[in-house]
Amino acid sequence: MFAVHLMAFYFTKLKEDQIKKVDRFLYHMRLSDETLVDIMARFQAEMEKGLGKDTNPTASVKMLPTFVRAIPDGSENGGFLSLDLGGSKFRVLKVQVSEEGKQNVQMESQFYPMPNEIIRGNGTELFDYVADCLADFMRTRDLTHKKLPLGFTFSFPCRQTKLEEGFLLSWTKKFKARGVQDTDVVGRLASAMKKHKDLDVDILALVNDTVGTMMTCAYDDPSCEVGVIIGTGTNACYMEDMSNIDLVEGDEGRMCINTEWGAFGDDGALEDIRTEFDRELDLGSLNPGKQLFEKMISGLYMGELVRLILLKMAKVGLLFGGAKSSALHTKGKIETQHVAAMEKYKEGLANTREILVNLGLDPSESDCIAVQHVCTIVSFRSANLCAAALAAILTRLRENKKQARLRTTVGMDGTLYKIHPQYPKRLHKVVRRLVPNCDVRFLLSESGSTKGAAMVTAVASRVQAQRKQ
Ligand code: BGC
Ligand code: MG
Repeated sequence: MFAVHLMAFYFTKLKEDQIKKVDRFLYHMRLSDETLVDIMARFQAEMEKGLGKDTNPTASVKMLPTFVRAIPDGSENGGFLSLDLGGSKFRVLKVQVSEEGKQNVQMESQFYPMPNEIIRGNGTELFDYVADCLADFMRTRDLTHKKLPLGFTFSFPCRQTKLEEGFLLSWTKKFKARGVQDTDVVGRLASAMKKHKDLDVDILALVNDTVGTMMTCAYDDPSCEVGVIIGTGTNACYMEDMSNIDLVEGDEGRMCINTEWGAFGDDGALEDIRTEFDRELDLGSLNPGKQLFEKMISGLYMGELVRLILLKMAKVGLLFGGAKSSALHTKGKIETQHVAAMEKYKEGLANTREILVNLGLDPSESDCIAVQHVCTIVSFRSANLCAAALAAILTRLRENKKQARLRTTVGMDGTLYKIHPQYPKRLHKVVRRLVPNCDVRFLLSESGSTKGAAMVTAVASRVQAQRKQ
C-alpha cells in the first residue's frame, strides 16, 4: 500500500518537473489571454484594412468577396456535382437535393489520388488530371447524357468578380503547379473539360472550402454565418454587410467574405509572437514569408513544429539524454496525426513512447511526459490563435448588427479539428472566454467543404431559374 502511494507520489513529482521544464523552454508559445485580446484587436484592424478600397492592395489579409449572397432556403432541388481540390484529399461528389424536407440530401462521392508530380508540375496537366477524374466519376455513374451544374471547391485565395470566375492570387499549402497564378481557374477547368466531348458540365460556382462549410451548415441551421477550416491549411469566411465591402458595387444586403486569415502576419504584424521554431519552419517551407499565421496553426505544419522543438531540446540536453536520431533530423517525420495520437487521454503516453521509438529514439518515462507536453503547448497555441481571430470576426458581426449580444452559429471543418482529441473543446472554451457577449454554437459539418460547393451551386441555379421566370 505504502509502495503504491510512493509510486504515485513519485510519478506526480516527475510529471510536474517535466511540465515545468517544458513550460520554461516554450515560454513564448504560451499565450496569455491578454496577448490573445491584443491579437484579436490586431485582426480586427486587418479586416478593416482588407475591406477598404485604398488599403486593400497593401493588406495582407485579403478579405476576398465571394459573390455568395444567399444561403440555402430549402427550396433548392436537383442533382449537382462538386469537385474538392486543395484539402487533405481530392474528391468528386454528386449531391441530390430535393424540396421535400431538408434531410433529403443524398450524396455519392469518390476520392482520387493527387500525386506530388501533379501538385507541383505543370498547371495545364493539373487541370487535365482533375477533368479526367471528374470524367471518370461521371462515366462510372452513367452521368454522361445529362448537363449537370458543377460547383468547384478550390481551397486557395482567388480574386473573384463573379461567382463563376476567380483568379488565383497564390498557391498555398503543398500546391505549386506552374502557370496557374493570376489565371481564372474556372476557365482552366472548363477548357480541360472540353477535351471530353461526351460530357457536359456547367461550372456555376467557384467556392472556397470555408464558404462551402458555412453553406452546408446553413442548410441545417439558418443562423450559421461563419465558416472555419482548421485542416491542412486554415481560414475563415463570414457574412459581411455590403455597405462595408468597398470592392463590390451596391449597399444592399450581405455578401460572404473569404478572409484568408492564413496570411495574417505576412506584413510583420505578428513578429512579436513568432518564435525561432516558426522562423525555421517558414524558411524550410514551399512559400517562405507567406501564410505565417497558417504556419503557426494548421495541420500541414504542426507536426513539423513539434519536431523542430524536440530536436532543439535534444541538442541542448533537455531530452533523450542529449541523443538525436537521423529521423528526428529529417523534415516531415513527425506529422499532425502523431501529435493528435500523443495527446490522446488514455493511450497518449504509450503512443508517445511508440512514436519516439519509431523515430529511432530511446525515451525515458520523463522524456515521454515532456514530449507529450510539447505537443500540448503547440496544439494549444494553435487553438488559441484561431480563437483570437474568430473572436474578432464574431465581434465584427455583433457590431455590424448593432446588438449587445450576438447569437450565432459557426460551421466547422478540417482534419486537425476533426482528428485532434482536445482541439475542439479548447477552441470553443477560449472563444467563449474572449467574447463573453456572444452565444456561439459550433456545428461540425461532415464533408462540408465539398458538399457546400454543391449547395452554392444549387442556390445559384435556383436564383437563375427564378430570374428566368
Ligand atoms: C487557403 C485557403 C483555404 C485554407 C483551408 C489556405 O491555405 O489559402 O483558401 O481556405 O487553406 O483549406
Ligand atoms: Mg477540405
